[in-house]
Amino acid sequence: MSIHMIGQPYSRDIIVGGYGSGRRRDRDPNYFAPNPLDPWQRDQIRGFYQIVEDEHLIDLHYYRSNDNVSINIYQVKQSEVLFVERTLDLIPSGHLRWLQERKPAGIIFANSAGRRRDERYTGGLNPGYDDQTTPFFDESEGIIITYGAIWRYQNLLISPTLIHEIGHVMTHGGKISYRYFSATARETLSNTRVSRNPGTLEALCNAYMYFICYSSSNPAVRLFGSRPAILEKNQQTREALRRCPAFTSRMLSPSEMINFRER
Ligand SMILES: [Zn+2]
Repeated sequence: MSIHMIGQPYSRDIIVGGYGSGRRRDRDPNYFAPNPLDPWQRDQIRGFYQIVEDEHLIDLHYYRSNDNVSINIYQVKQSEVLFVERTLDLIPSGHLRWLQERKPAGIIFANSAGRRRDERYTGGLNPGYDDQTTPFFDESEGIIITYGAIWRYQNLLISPTLIHEIGHVMTHGGKISYRYFSATARETLSNTRVSRNPGTLEALCNAYMYFICYSSSNPAVRLFGSRPAILEKNQQTREALRRCPAFTSRMLSPSEMINFRER
């Protein structure tokens, strides 16, 4: 579990999005913006945001040499490198190798994700397009995480959004799927609208995200991943996930299996 910097840091103006509050997410975010003395600004399509000038960014290489894991990560804020490292450290090596196979370009941080009326300053995306403004990176072969998504959860010191997006990759080839859930849980989860994306897999990817957090040795992260009253993060859902190939010995080492046991 190591991080290498690729090249030198560079500075750039970036946009940090904010998650709107209220039922319709149309009120100001209920947390501070990066420049706390200035209010959040708003774009009717992309949502709440602030511009941060001269942010220091860096490209990274994350690797576990003994486990054949090697992932490139681009345009990370220098102050958030540790969050990215801590997040990837939670993910089993077999899952990261599957990520490499399905998303060989790696991970890129960006001001926004999505296109046209679906473009947002928050969240993450497994996009089907290549963004021409980043000629060194083919987005259709990678994952986009917005600066706003990582800013939102900085108190956790990890990025749940990054885990959610890796969850989408785990649905490829059925590494995780609703097959192993009860009929009622499957019905409830596939009809849960968890983000702007109406897809039936959103709650499954959240369940993956919470289960990964539940395995953390950090109490705050584990608490974030567990809540008996919420189906996406309760024991019933964890048991169903343990039956998915991603959490069996097909993709986990014996010591990783222990991490994902009930506690
Ligand atoms: Zn999603």
